[in-house]
Amino acid sequence: MSAEKIEQLKKSLKKNRIELMCFCSTGQLADFISDVLKPGGTVGVGDSKTLEQLGVYSLLRNSDIRFLDKYKTDITKDEKEKLYRDNFFADIFFSGVNALSLEGKIFNLDGNGSRVAPIIFGPKRVFLVCSTNKIVENDVAAIERIKNIAAPIDARRLNKKTPCVKTGRCMDCKSSEKICNYYTVIQGQFDAQRIKVLLVEGNYGF
Ligand code: SF4
Repeated sequence: MSAEKIEQLKKSLKKNRIELMCFCSTGQLADFISDVLKPGGTVGVGDSKTLEQLGVYSLLRNSDIRFLDKYKTDITKDEKEKLYRDNFFADIFFSGVNALSLEGKIFNLDGNGSRVAPIIFGPKRVFLVCSTNKIVENDVAAIERIKNIAAPIDARRLNKKTPCVKTGRCMDCKSSEKICNYYTVIQGQFDAQRIKVLLVEGNYGF
């Protein structure tokens, strides 16, 4: 992505009171995350292939923090639901994004809301990790990206029986397994220090 586009994105987000921080390498990102973690602090995460591929989950598991790890192999359904609620009281919450527009808006899609809700309210600090493949021009392109790229891939990953798994495109289904129940658009915040976007050059997640 060109330096001009990144600058445009940075300015647009700043107008919405959201800081964009750019990282040239995954190592730089890891160093930043290690610095913001405080010993004993509680850290939650939203489901994100980007975070997984960038090694963020591994970093958290190996840090001196209380990691609300929803990926533990022996976790029960009740424990996971409690963890989703505990996320609201976390010191830090990490998530990916589904699209980031050059107009400075952050788009996310969620099936049960456990990811988008704590992004909006609860944790003291929120870091949204985004790779440059999620950047789009505007609202229309963001929804197009979510419906016809991100959601069908995610539905397939989750083994859902939704039409997009077969067609690769959104069919606006009414399936009980539909993963597109909650769309959120973040276009500003009261506390300019709370949500920050951490941008990494590359093609991570979907
Ligand atoms: S609304 Fe249904 S068909 Fe469309 S992307 Fe979501 S799950 Fe797939």
